[in-house]
Amino acid sequence: MAARILNGNAIRDQIYGELAGEIASLGAAGIRPGLAAVLVGDNPASKLYVNSKIAACGKLGLASFMLTPPASITTEELLALVGELNRRDDVDGILVQMPLPPQVNAKKILEAVDPAKDVDGFHPINVGKLVAGQASLVACTPAGVMEIFRRSNIPLEGANAAVMGRSDIVGKPMALLLLHASATVTICHSKTRDLKNVTRRADIVVAAMGRAAMVTSEYIRPGATVIDVGQNVIKDKAEAERIFANIPERIESFRAKGSVLVGDVHPDVVNTAGAFTPVPGGVGPLTIAMLMSNTVKAARLRRGAHVPVAAGASR
Ligand code: NAP
Repeated sequence: MAARILNGNAIRDQIYGELAGEIASLGAAGIRPGLAAVLVGDNPASKLYVNSKIAACGKLGLASFMLTPPASITTEELLALVGELNRRDDVDGILVQMPLPPQVNAKKILEAVDPAKDVDGFHPINVGKLVAGQASLVACTPAGVMEIFRRSNIPLEGANAAVMGRSDIVGKPMALLLLHASATVTICHSKTRDLKNVTRRADIVVAAMGRAAMVTSEYIRPGATVIDVGQNVIKDKAEAERIFANIPERIESFRAKGSVLVGDVHPDVVNTAGAFTPVPGGVGPLTIAMLMSNTVKAARLRRGAHVPVAAGASR
């Protein structure tokens, strides 16, 4: 039997609906949350990501500020820019789009962002709070995955969860969030022995490796919940035809566009899993939704503590 599809677009729309209420109550108190996005240079993928974040702000009525320093910027110049954004009262959230040019010390830049405005949740203070179970601003993609679990009534307490990937932005915070939700968590990575045996024991598998369609049905216990964070662009025809052999529409779409997006989970896993996030339309939409949610939360915490939280809004 095919898995239940966990529809990220529908969950994003639900979250946007709730945020609209909270944005309205902040507005009534004279507060318009604002997000500043720093896009260094002209990396086309980064431009695309930042533009969709700015578009989401527009859709929700948040203020947005786009800063586009040249690729030649130095660490000191970028630190000065971040310092300026830290001081601005109309900026509640600051995101510095990665990757940064090689001459810039990315770690120094991320550490310079005011933790109260760190809507990406990357600052060591926010990571530390997450470890300590006092999370405030949490990395958007894993926070979005938690919304998928919560809003799809996937039980986490006591569940065996395998997180495939241990990056600072996805795997590690994901594992901590699952741990705090009382799952029994195994963190897998490129050195994990007998990976299939580890993931096959899990009730919940979160794949975040950047390995196109690597997780086949052999990795999955029948009925498990499978969350696919991976976003891989396939440009090779033979590879696209192999991965989507059972989904002719996706091969058609590859022929029309010359590329196709695939997750880390093979699409045929839909026949083994109990619940499954598709790519596209699964985790992806939640990442931007949680960025919006974090921006509203940062505004409320920083300058609107007296504003009542709208029903259902993130705390
Ligand atoms: P990353 O920094 O490259 O980390 C990849 C992780 O996967 C590493 O921990 C690595 O292990 C592990 N790994 C790689 N190959 C493996 C293998 N064969 N077996 C087991 N583990 C393996 O990647 P990331 O930034 O976390 O992103 C992961 C994926 O999520 C990418 O496809 C990315 O595009 C996608 N992503 C999507 C969103 C979204 O909004 N949907 C957001 C962020 C990222 P080691 O540590 O041992 O090297």
